[in-house]
Amino acid sequence: MGSIADRLAEVRERACFSYRRAAGQPGEPHIVCVTKTQPLPRILEAIDAGVTEIGENYLQEAIRKNVFTLRESYGATVRYIGRLQSNKYNAILRMFDAVDSADPELLEHLHDMQDRAAQRACTFLLEVNAGEESQKGGLTMPKIRELAAADTPWLHEISGLMVVVPLQATTQMRANMYESVSVLFHELAKDLGSSHVTLLSMGTSDDFELAIERGSNMIRVGTGIFGFRSPSQM
Ligand SMILES: *Cc1c(COP(=O)(O)O)cnc(C)c1O
Repeated sequence: MGSIADRLAEVRERACFSYRRAAGQPGEPHIVCVTKTQPLPRILEAIDAGVTEIGENYLQEAIRKNVFTLRESYGATVRYIGRLQSNKYNAILRMFDAVDSADPELLEHLHDMQDRAAQRACTFLLEVNAGEESQKGGLTMPKIRELAAADTPWLHEISGLMVVVPLQATTQMRANMYESVSVLFHELAKDLGSSHVTLLSMGTSDDFELAIERGSNMIRVGTGIFGFRSPSQM
């Protein structure tokens, strides 16, 4: 199946090709390397191969693996992409560079924070629950439109959206969801300021080309870079 470097090179080539075709101009999407369950030596291999942004799903796992040292040694950006719990808000805000899975409670907490110097995270993406799945995090698209129409103050904290689609969604369903979120993203950019709302994180190993064709400029790839995850690697 090739090395981490080979797989990363292939992902990057395919992602850049789709991006240039979709955007009609040079450039490349952000590639967030999803490192959950991966031990530090494998993450280092990916960094050596050119990864600059990593995504972790769990605070404790990120601390245990010491991924934050990659920031000082390699200039890597460490993004939080997992579910949030309110008792961990402050630790997450202090340790990560970005929270891509931000929810209304976190953004409100942030907006009301007195001491913003205690926070490192400076980029926040609002998570969109595109399939309206009740067991998943994120807000539905109608809910986000409602908040934008009400000029909700904390909405001004966001730099974009992160989209999660249902695992079982067909290609056609994913294409439709990505398309709809892309429309919402452009509405928000217009409402909140296009220089501030710039990131649309959608697409994973399975479907990043489809997502890029629908307007994604940030993809989150785990298995596509590392190969299949075994739970025992946790
Ligand atoms: C695990 C995960 C990914 C990566 O999925 P792959 O199929 O391994 O590419 C992307 N986004 C989120 C939020 C994840 O939890």
